[in-house]
Amino acid sequence: MHRAADLLSSSRQNLALTGAGISVESGIPDFRSSGGLWDRYPVHEYATLRAFRDDPKKVWKMLAEMNNVIRPAKPNPAHRGLARLEQVGLLQGIITQNIDNLHQEGGTKRVIEYHGNVQTLTCLACGLQFDAEQVANRIPPQCSCGQFLKPDVIFFGESIPLKALQESYELASTCHVLLVIGTSAQVTPAATIPASAKQAGASIVEINIEPTMLTDSVTDVFLQGKAGDVVPALVSRVEVFLQKG
Ligand code: NAD
Repeated sequence: MHRAADLLSSSRQNLALTGAGISVESGIPDFRSSGGLWDRYPVHEYATLRAFRDDPKKVWKMLAEMNNVIRPAKPNPAHRGLARLEQVGLLQGIITQNIDNLHQEGGTKRVIEYHGNVQTLTCLACGLQFDAEQVANRIPPQCSCGQFLKPDVIFFGESIPLKALQESYELASTCHVLLVIGTSAQVTPAATIPASAKQAGASIVEINIEPTMLTDSVTDVFLQGKAGDVVPALVSRVEVFLQKG
């Protein structure tokens, strides 16, 4: 913890990469664990663009269940801790794989979303976009043209938004510290960010309840524990360092 706080407080070019694990304590389970969404709704049948185009009503069964979990969730101390780091000038931004909007709700200004966000939906036929609230009372939601709407999240088989890719690689190649929080680092291309940052000279601080495939390869400091406990403790330590100057 001491070393991680020292690294963070010694530079302003710090970045975070977050995954599903940071939102687990907000009540959103990761989808990959046993009993998770992908157990009941196999990815190839429910989470690909082709699956949505072939049978949107079927895919909306999974999406409705996902929305029911994500909609009531509130930011937890890990989301708020990162927002605090940004506020004190020690975090340039967050690259998140999450689609739950909790970093923004927790107060972070610069959030780069790799996999989109459930807050808006788009019609694949005519391109009209809707706020989730606008269409929340009709599941599956339909566009005024009659087609089913797709949430603006990146399905397997879709490309990562180009702006997010460019911005994240720019930040990752110049950051001094990369905090990697609650990601199994199995979904590419986000999973390649820690290695690219490391190659460009960054120190990698990883926070997870268990070691991942990054831990023994690219991680410099591994802080094992729940993000909701470890992030606020780390931020408090950093603030003490800052006060001491
Ligand atoms: P993942 O499910 O592959 O891995 C989650 C990681 O979080 C694991 O390594 C696990 O050990 C760790 N973890 C679990 N609880 C934790 C806690 N309390 N504190 C710290 N770490 C904890 O997640 P991923 O790598 O983000 O990839 C899954 C994909 O699924 C993402 O791309 C994302 O788009 C999507 N997803 C999003 C959400 C969300 O928006 N909240 C939730 C589930 C899945």
